[in-house]
Amino acid sequence: MHSIHHYINNEFVSSQGGETFDILTPLTNEVIGKCASGQPGDIDKAARAARSAFDSGVWSKMKVKDRAKKIRTIGDLILKHASTVAELEIEDTGIPRAQITKGAIPRAADNFYFFADQLEALRGDSYTVNDEWLNYVIYRPVGVAGLITPWNTPFMLESWKVAPALASGCTVVLKPAEWSPLSASQMCKIIQEADLPPGVFNCVHGYGESAGAPLVAHPMVNLISFTGETTTGQIIIKNGADTLKRYSMELGGKSPNIVFADVDMERAIDGALWQVYSLNGERCTAASRLLLEETIHDTFVEKLAERVRKIRVGDPNDMATEVGPLIHKEHWERVRGFMDVAREDGATILVGGDNPANLPSPIPHPPSIAKGNYFAPTLITNATNNMRIAQEEVFGPVLTVMKFKDEADAIRQANDIKYGLAGYVWTRDLERAHRVAASLECGMVWVNAQNVRDLRLPFGGSKWSGIGREGGELSFKEFFMEAKSVHVPLKAAHVPRMGG
Ligand code: NDP
Repeated sequence: MHSIHHYINNEFVSSQGGETFDILTPLTNEVIGKCASGQPGDIDKAARAARSAFDSGVWSKMKVKDRAKKIRTIGDLILKHASTVAELEIEDTGIPRAQITKGAIPRAADNFYFFADQLEALRGDSYTVNDEWLNYVIYRPVGVAGLITPWNTPFMLESWKVAPALASGCTVVLKPAEWSPLSASQMCKIIQEADLPPGVFNCVHGYGESAGAPLVAHPMVNLISFTGETTTGQIIIKNGADTLKRYSMELGGKSPNIVFADVDMERAIDGALWQVYSLNGERCTAASRLLLEETIHDTFVEKLAERVRKIRVGDPNDMATEVGPLIHKEHWERVRGFMDVAREDGATILVGGDNPANLPSPIPHPPSIAKGNYFAPTLITNATNNMRIAQEEVFGPVLTVMKFKDEADAIRQANDIKYGLAGYVWTRDLERAHRVAASLECGMVWVNAQNVRDLRLPFGGSKWSGIGREGGELSFKEFFMEAKSVHVPLKAAHVPRMGG
């Protein structure tokens, strides 16, 4: 049984009032441990620790090469403890082992290596005016960073925020999602081993309402980097108004994948499958709306359905598993509820739509499938863009297929939605690829590819999918650091005279 504590001032501690919540595994829905449940008092303790560490300058004024070295050490320790992180993440979230060990964990280490490099490469612009003025920009860390993370690929997403926050010189209070506390606790152990000064990194577990909300409202916390649902983001922005928080908001998505008739169909099918069913479909950049040019629609759907039926659903510990159980029974119910919504609106559930144990199958499923939050990869057809299944984020292994007539129609349908996180386009026509990429109302586009992201590029969404961009030096310059302009005359500058 796991016993998970907060990490404050370099110590693992219980909640001040002893509050805890149960940790469940999605594989069986059994209780696998207890986690400290943070309350406003625990957040206050962590925020004060972070404030005092920041104000002391022990971290924010540490020599850049020394701070970068500490950040790289965290990357090294992630790789050293990769197998432990993987075990915890699988048990806690149900993400298949292959996708964690080959994807999420190396990427988490890369985030630390990358932001250490970025820190050492950080530069401020300078502007001279007529050899009379030298003006330049310096960057300083903002202060105490509140980082609020979701339960999907939690370890990687935590690293995506913790690495730039610490590298910038900010101190941190992390609030992980209560459905996935295990790997966050391992991150605390790793950071403890890296031996950062006390108070530089703190983590308080707990519910959004009791731990997240007081973090947002805390006057000693200067900024909130949030990843989660759009509706939660709206609440957070309101709650931080009184203390004038700076925000980075990475929110929900319902991204289009546009496939034109000229593609290599097998590759486009590979892309369509991976981009929605990997990570159990619990992926913010999931291409969950597939827009097919009408001339290839029927053939494409037939081939796609054949492949969806063959996706291996099962124990996420097994390297061969492609889709594991969803994070929580409550989330499973929500995803299942979307099947009724789709049917009510007139769409067809062509494949999947329930726990595989409840669906006809030539091979009997092991009893463990019925116990866990498994949801069969699902393909929905006969859908139109006005249906709720085409407009609302399901956040599970569910793909909705629609048709388009021509390029203009594809762009119109792709953009006719409140979200704008990512977009995908498959075509062999080079000019069209660039035109469509430029026309999609979203933060990121992939052409003839799945979501492979160079860490130097901006990450974030448009419309209801987010506010601000992180990634590359934007993480520092736009968010965790503040620019300061310094204006220096190179000879006695004119100062208008007052008072005689
Ligand atoms: P939630 O918005 O439910 O939760 C995210 C985090 O916010 C959790 O730690 C949660 O705590 C916390 N929280 C909840 N209420 C409050 C509050 N009032 N004040 C402060 N914190 C609060 O998102 P999910 O965890 O369900 O994650 C899935 C969502 O995240 C999807 O919509 C997905 O699209 C989005 N996402 C976006 C990404 C992007 O980059 N754009 C990337 C990944 C996911 P707790 O849950 O413990 O109560």
